[in-house]
Amino acid sequence: MGTKGREIVGVNIEMILSLLNKAFADEWLAYYQYWLGAKIAKGPMKEAVIAELLQHATDELRHADLVANRIVQLGGTPILSPQLWYDFTNCGYDAPENPHVMQLLQQNIKGEQCAITVYNTMLVETREKDPVTYNMALQILQDEVEHEEDLQSLQEDIELMLNRHS
Ligand code: FE
Ligand code: FE
Ligand code: MG
Repeated sequence: MGTKGREIVGVNIEMILSLLNKAFADEWLAYYQYWLGAKIAKGPMKEAVIAELLQHATDELRHADLVANRIVQLGGTPILSPQLWYDFTNCGYDAPENPHVMQLLQQNIKGEQCAITVYNTMLVETREKDPVTYNMALQILQDEVEHEEDLQSLQEDIELMLNRHS
């Protein structure tokens, strides 16, 4: 950990570490939810949905990496056991019990909407106080906003396709 890098953080570091570790748990659970959804998806436009879910899984894993790096920089420890993900998560985990693409999209849209709230809160808490965490949260928020949009537009395309036949 860099001492000067920590010194410039004008906000309670323990509070920031707590926000970061909660987001870290969210990212792993989001990664797994996407990754598993892509394995089992069934239904209309399955190939397009799988491609999007896999792309998002990759993004969530990259977010976990960014968040873990920032935790370590601030002198903290990323959650050491997956068992604790459930204790820390903001957004939880929706098991894809119904593999229909529309169900998977709906579950993941809910997750993205939660992630948008989480990173928006992180921005508010770090604004003008912790520019490095702020910048990281902004980068991730941009991805989460894009993820929500991607999933909702797929949902719309599938609905249009289904309605055309009815
Ligand atoms: Fe993410
Ligand atoms: Fe996302
Ligand atoms: Mg995408």
